[in-house]
Amino acid sequence: MAAVQSTTTTAPQRILMGPGPSDVDSRVLAALSAPIVGHLDPYFLRVMDEMQSMLREVFRTKNELTLAVSGTGSAGMETCVVNLIEPGDRMVVGVNGVFGTRMADVATRAGAEVTTIERPFGEVFNADEIAEVVARVKPKVVGLIHAETSTGALQPIEEISRVVHDAGALLLIDTVTSLGGVPVEIDAWNVDAVYSGTQKCLSCPPGLAPVSFSAAALEVMDARKTKVASWYLDMSMVRNYWGGKRAYHHTAPINMNYALHEALRLVLEEGLENRFDRHRQNHLALCAGLEALGIQYAVPADHRLPQLNAVVIPAGVEDAAVRKQLLSEFGIEIGGGLGPMAGKTWRIGLMGAASSNRNVLLLLAALERCLTDQGISVTPGAGVAAANGVYGAA
Ligand SMILES: *Cc1c(COP(=O)(O)O)cnc(C)c1O
Repeated sequence: MAAVQSTTTTAPQRILMGPGPSDVDSRVLAALSAPIVGHLDPYFLRVMDEMQSMLREVFRTKNELTLAVSGTGSAGMETCVVNLIEPGDRMVVGVNGVFGTRMADVATRAGAEVTTIERPFGEVFNADEIAEVVARVKPKVVGLIHAETSTGALQPIEEISRVVHDAGALLLIDTVTSLGGVPVEIDAWNVDAVYSGTQKCLSCPPGLAPVSFSAAALEVMDARKTKVASWYLDMSMVRNYWGGKRAYHHTAPINMNYALHEALRLVLEEGLENRFDRHRQNHLALCAGLEALGIQYAVPADHRLPQLNAVVIPAGVEDAAVRKQLLSEFGIEIGGGLGPMAGKTWRIGLMGAASSNRNVLLLLAALERCLTDQGISVTPGAGVAAANGVYGAA
């Protein structure tokens, strides 16, 4: 048999302005290459303890059971669902995008009797419609996507949390794209279970899923009659490694944890409020620039995500050609549409380290070139000028 001829060498340097992964700070990449230690090494146990404290700060919670699950954001989703749900339990899932659809699928596989409540992609749910469905279904758990990355919509949580708890249910939310980009208030909003991912606004490579569970969720988990359907994601065992007994469960991905530890340090050094302001400011500048290029948002202004800008591809413009040109000529990655939005929208991420005035101005200049090559007439420099107008006024 002939030897394999590997032709891939060094990975290209991209500017990651899609729906994730996002750009990663060099300090985080350096942490990944630090010496590996054993999963019970005293150094690593300190790293884990600090990560738990930092995750509590970032989630704004005092929840004891707060840790990073080994696996990407979807593993976080699965962890929350399988630990709360026993076969036959009723769960309501809000479906207004691809990730709500995924949560309903995960819950069904976990044996839940799932009732979906649906909204067209790009819209969000209000408390009245959730109140109506929880009164009718009487679920154990209600699951919602806080930041729907497939549509660019931000779901308000606080009022819905009240109606969910009034009905005696637990609230589970997906903050994969929101954490570190917009306010996430786990205690103030009274959220019972939450998961996130590392590669969106936390700006860390994909591979871990921060999760947190409230005291009420813990009670439900401790009172289970059946074993958690997933051995790997069973919190009753995983928590004994992150907590008191330090009992081996599975080998922690040591260096991924170093990376998240460093990424969390960066988040807290900047400060959450400063970070939210930065995301907001760059979003407003991008928005002004895109509008000056004749590009409209797919989501109404009052519930747009600053870190995920879903915009309508102008008529006559070829979706794939523009994304290919951005990547090959400028090294910029943006995302295409998902599900029913495929071919109709672009998803421009300004997540974590990628949310910068450099990236906003660069993308607007590059996009002007691509649109011009597509035969669209734009006023030269209009996008960059409009964005600079926003930065200048700040
Ligand atoms: C990216 C994403 C996920 C899935 O995370 P993976 O890291 O791809 O497994 C789940 N929910 C939302 C809202 C996301 O944006």
